[in-house]
Amino acid sequence: MLDNSAPVRPVAYDMLIDGRWVGAASGRRMDSLDPFAGAAWASVPDAGSEDVGTAVAAARKAFDLGPWGRSTARERAALLRRLAELIARDADRLAAIESRDNGKLVREMTAQWRYMPEWFFYFAGAAERIEGSTLQSDRPNFTAFTRKEPVGVVAAITPWNSPGLLLAWKLAPALAAGCTFVVKPSEHTPVSAIEIGRLVEEAGFPAGVYNVITGGPEAGRALVADPRVDKIAFTGSTDVGKAIAKSAADNLTGVLLELGGKSPNIVFDDCDPAAAANGIISGIFAASGQTCMAGSRLVIQRSIMEDVVGRVIARAQTIKLGDPSLPETEMGPVATPQQHAKVTGMIRAAVAEGARVACGGADGGPGGLFVPPTILVDVTPQMTIAREEVFGPVLSVIPFDTEEEAIAIANDTEFGLAAGIWSLNLQRAHRVANKVRAGTVWLNAYRVVAYNAPFGGFKQSGSGRENGVGAVDEYLETKTIWIELSGATRDPFTIG
Ligand code: NAD
Repeated sequence: MLDNSAPVRPVAYDMLIDGRWVGAASGRRMDSLDPFAGAAWASVPDAGSEDVGTAVAAARKAFDLGPWGRSTARERAALLRRLAELIARDADRLAAIESRDNGKLVREMTAQWRYMPEWFFYFAGAAERIEGSTLQSDRPNFTAFTRKEPVGVVAAITPWNSPGLLLAWKLAPALAAGCTFVVKPSEHTPVSAIEIGRLVEEAGFPAGVYNVITGGPEAGRALVADPRVDKIAFTGSTDVGKAIAKSAADNLTGVLLELGGKSPNIVFDDCDPAAAANGIISGIFAASGQTCMAGSRLVIQRSIMEDVVGRVIARAQTIKLGDPSLPETEMGPVATPQQHAKVTGMIRAAVAEGARVACGGADGGPGGLFVPPTILVDVTPQMTIAREEVFGPVLSVIPFDTEEEAIAIANDTEFGLAAGIWSLNLQRAHRVANKVRAGTVWLNAYRVVAYNAPFGGFKQSGSGRENGVGAVDEYLETKTIWIELSGATRDPFTIG
């Protein structure tokens, strides 16, 4: 018989460096917490700068000397397709693991992992279509063409909210381009990057092409400061993104930054109110609000506010909080004790600034790491709760009267990741979409992403784009090659 009172030993994982499974050079390890159980469920090495150096050296060697650096697009595409098939085979198992690591619903993680192979299939195709161009030279007696070459060693740093998917967004185009890769996942959710390492091995990628370092900010800082890294791909908070950009500037390393948001859901009185209410719920309470694209500001026309906000409150009050592994659960806990303290602290601060709790609240949860769906009314655009990212299930309701006012409130933010617009008036919906400064705008929808749709932020929500064919260019350099045609001696003191 199983003894349920016996302490459960966390599952021990190692890091993948240069095709070998290793611990940290220091021997240090750290635990990963199951936020629902409130206990450690996995243990991973706690890497320091020495381990980071070893991993970057391995990626450098695999790129400069290994077979990967000389691989053809066809070979890379075949391996990417194989990896896609392996992720599809293991999607449900990996989704269950991810849910344990970050507390998000198994049903959401399952949908993510089942969709994830498409990134690898799509970028396999993109690998086969990388091409330079022949230039119609403006210089007599010259012809010129461009080649696209992999940028080199990519350092990826990912957050805890959708660790596997956000890794796939970087890994698939980087491998398609022919780069080698070192990933440092969040210290809160290190396991999926390791599990992908097992599949990368099984698919047959050469040693050193994909390396995983597990550790916290110290390992992250060492990774982005390493001059042997050619490109940094980061998803996380805006503050850390700025620190990374400053560090990268010392080596002029290229950076792709996917950062935070304070996205508006803009609701006009000519919307379908039931659809809008459903979209607002999805935007802020799915994933317990722990998504970069959370629609955390409800910017709503005063004439329809009572109706739509009433519908949102009614639905929010029926949301089932509970065990993320159960299919009927609609919201799990937030991912970490620190996150719980931050979210509840921001709700209390908002109330102190004059907001009113219409639903939920800092103390309204069932205990543990749960924060109930919280709706704050009487919020003004100047309040902290309307300006700073909460990264939790907290909706701020801000009314407007005119279209111009709605656009001004929507754009009154340092962020620019996403926006939803709810109006059945085609002209208005398009007009407002063109004026909102955000990387993604959904009309009469919210929270839709796909492998072929560019995703990224305006303003302090980041720089560069993931997904879409252009994502491969983030990992490519363009080289121009000139060919002299005449054989004549040229004036050495003029250009061209
Ligand atoms: P975070 O910025 O705290 O940490 C992200 C990663 O950076 C972790 O792996 C962490 O260990 C590492 N890190 C921390 N300090 C570092 C440093 N100085 N140098 C190098 N690495 C360092 O973010 P988080 O709390 O894990 O994730 C939540 C944030 O991510 C939110 O702000 C959210 O909006 C953002 N996010 C953005 C997107 C997007 O696509 N724009 C997607 C998901 C999440």
